Amino acid sequence: MSKQILILKDKCKGCNLCVKACSFGAISVVEKIAVIDAAKCSYCGACEPACKFKAIEIKVDDIDRSSFSAYKGLWVYGENRDGVLAEVVYELVGEGRKLADKLKVELSVVIIGDKTQNLADDLFSYGVDNVYYIENKLLKDYDTNSYTKILEEAIEAHKPEIVLFGATSEGRSVAPRLAARVKTGLTADCTALDITADGDLAQTRPAFGGNIMATILCRTRPQLSTVRPHVMQKAAKLAKKGKKIELKSTIVEKDVVTKVLEFIKETRENVNLTESDIIIGAGRGVGSEENLKLIHQLAEKLGGVVGASRACVDAGWIDHFHQVGQTGKTVHPKIYIACGISGAIQHLAGMSSSDIIIAINKDADAPIFNVADLGIVGDVFTIIPALLKSL
Ligand code: FAD
Repeated sequence: MSKQILILKDKCKGCNLCVKACSFGAISVVEKIAVIDAAKCSYCGACEPACKFKAIEIKVDDIDRSSFSAYKGLWVYGENRDGVLAEVVYELVGEGRKLADKLKVELSVVIIGDKTQNLADDLFSYGVDNVYYIENKLLKDYDTNSYTKILEEAIEAHKPEIVLFGATSEGRSVAPRLAARVKTGLTADCTALDITADGDLAQTRPAFGGNIMATILCRTRPQLSTVRPHVMQKAAKLAKKGKKIELKSTIVEKDVVTKVLEFIKETRENVNLTESDIIIGAGRGVGSEENLKLIHQLAEKLGGVVGASRACVDAGWIDHFHQVGQTGKTVHPKIYIACGISGAIQHLAGMSSSDIIIAINKDADAPIFNVADLGIVGDVFTIIPALLKSL
């Protein structure tokens, strides 16, 4: 931690107020200007408010930056299966490009698998500068142990300052283990990222049960984050050429400690909530399972799907699979119509990045109207039938 105490000479009157406030005898006045004895000063801060002329400033930087210059560039973990990149990779590339441009550094994707080189050209067309890849039959299926080892070796060799992962099962598995290996922190489940004036990654995520949004800085390098899928905008196509860089690794068969025998696809009702352009969200205001039929009718008419608040799910009106929010799904549709939903922060965490939010609520003060682009104060049982009639 570095601390600095400054006397602003143009403001100091040599009045001795700070001398009296200092319990450590660290301040004296020499030629009408306060002078601090750094050996005695404890940086307790008592002098700063004691000065009527605002001539004292204490600066605290609790990050030791001496080793940071060795780290450069932003990496995205290129999660892939059967030769196809996960959707979240394109979202991270979109966000990563903006952050890399702010830092004036290169954006790279690191891909591990058995057929990875051919994914590079596609990534270059989304504005990626470099693709680090490793192709090895042993790496066909995700394996935490070997994938962590490869990433650890790659970070040691190339020293990126930021590495972003999707907050998917795979990202949540590899990122914490990697963070421990490279002795850095990890901010999990981020919903927003930015670059501070000091060039640090500002990582925002819900905290304390979703009641506040916390912005977290990392004291070490590299800075590692997992990012919720469907929160960031997908990358735009750019005509760009990039560089393929093969990763060297010491990986051998005994490093791969899991063997995938079979993949079994989930067979439950296929509600494509996270990929739908139109979602009709049902809240407690809908009143009952029976009344949800109205919401289903509207969804069908508009070619959308039904989402729900936790209140509906907890009441047993609809399966958890439909839940939108902090403990449900994060969605990013073109249109989200919130019907009888109050707009609790935990619900907003899952849908506030929708392109257009329309809210129907009979309470004009409901918080959902604070995020809505279009608000209808009224009863869902009047508004929705009228809407259905006019469609
Ligand atoms: P309410 O808050 O009860 O709101 C009902 C709304 O309907 C009111 O605004 C009312 O004015 C309106 N209304 C009533 N009748 C009508 C009518 N006839 N016409 C029009 N409007 C009407 N919630 C989630 O949704 N998703 C989550 O993932 C989630 N995770 C959570 C995690 C934690 C750790 C915690 C503590 C809570 C979580 N919650 C989540 C719960 C959240 O705090 C709220 O309790 C929940 O979102 C409320 O749902 P609601 O808006 O449907 O119900």
